[in-house]
Amino acid sequence: MKFSSRNGGAIAAMIALPALVYYLWLSFSAAGGWVFTSWSAAPGLVARQAIPNLASVAVYGGWLLWQVLLYALLPGRDAAGQPLSDGSRLKYRVNGNLAFWITIPLAALAAWLSPGFVYDNLGRLLTMASLVALAGSVYLFRHGHGRGAQQFFAGVERNPRIGSFDLKFFCESRPGLMGWAVIDIALAFKGGQRSTALLLVLACQLLYVADYFWHEEAILSTYDIVHERFGFMLAWGDLVWVPFIYSLQVYFLASHPQRLPGWAIAAIAVLNLTGYALFRTANLQKHHFRRDPARPIWGKRPAFIRTQSGSLLLTSGLWGLARHLNYTGDLLMAIAWSLPTLFVSPLTYFYPAFLLVMLVQRERRDHANCLAKYGEAWQAYCRQVRWRLVPGLY
Ligand code: NDP
Repeated sequence: MKFSSRNGGAIAAMIALPALVYYLWLSFSAAGGWVFTSWSAAPGLVARQAIPNLASVAVYGGWLLWQVLLYALLPGRDAAGQPLSDGSRLKYRVNGNLAFWITIPLAALAAWLSPGFVYDNLGRLLTMASLVALAGSVYLFRHGHGRGAQQFFAGVERNPRIGSFDLKFFCESRPGLMGWAVIDIALAFKGGQRSTALLLVLACQLLYVADYFWHEEAILSTYDIVHERFGFMLAWGDLVWVPFIYSLQVYFLASHPQRLPGWAIAAIAVLNLTGYALFRTANLQKHHFRRDPARPIWGKRPAFIRTQSGSLLLTSGLWGLARHLNYTGDLLMAIAWSLPTLFVSPLTYFYPAFLLVMLVQRERRDHANCLAKYGEAWQAYCRQVRWRLVPGLY
């Protein structure tokens, strides 16, 4: 393997990111959500609580198989993806909403029958998910005939498939987002300590995931599906990062119940719904516009800038106010999911802090890509829509 700084960076990321997830798991499981510093105890804790046993192998394996079967067998619509470089479009089976509404009641039943299983085995399930993500990344690398650590990390192919089974589309939502919802539900059943704070976070996060599946087709015009290659970064992100990091607030609240006054519940709910409205409206406006540029936005024919490649850049609706209000909405929701944990542990704010850094960086990367792709048209769009995330501020 040729060693370069890109390969070095990829190797460092593949060590640091899993180490961070295990560190956070230790902080929540062994230090009550506080910064974990008992380094001498760490190997023993990992050995006792994070090495998979038969039950965790069976549960995680069964979970993945269940999701594969639902994706492959449930009826659904075939939706067309964005045009590829040769002009053709891939077809995607859209049946996630049905899969979600079959899975969630069953997950609640399983959690009720076996309360505490996921809470007690979170470390083991985390290791199972990490091993599957690693094995999947090796498969993707070999399938795409990749070369070097950078390609292993970032991926080789954009749309790897086994027959019509789209691996990236499947992993993004089923073991990823649905896995997060199922972990949340399972944690909420732990020990019967369901405080108002826990129920509030659970409701907000289930709304986010249910909404994703209701609008599942809209993911077909997002950056991850259209542009990103599928390698370790996305596979591990889908299987490990999303379900195990995004459920940390519920993990914390399952053992640290917090009572919230009515006004606080109402204020947090309003923050969450405001974020949700921005996030969903922006994503849907772009998605519908890309499907049908004549479809009215806020009662008017959409305005746009035509690029040299023929793509249209929407300048109406939320896309005329700032370039990524969908990111801003996501951030508001992330804050709403952490506030119910009050200010007991700084680590329950890890998710919004991470999301802020990630989305600011993602917006800049998207900006650079669009500038390279659309040139003058993108510059004209940026002159017309000056703000990146928050009108009047940033
Ligand atoms: P977008 O859905 O905003 O997609 C960006 C792409 O949209 C650009 O590359 C460009 O692609 C196109 N585009 C940009 N501006 C315009 C415009 N004015 N008119 C028409 N098309 C435009 O971003 P992402 O895919 O990054 O994110 C999608 C959603 O997923 C967001 O809501 C985000 O918050 C969320 N997300 C959440 C994460 C999480 O962990 N919570 C992680 C990542 C994303 P092109 O022209 O090539 O089509």
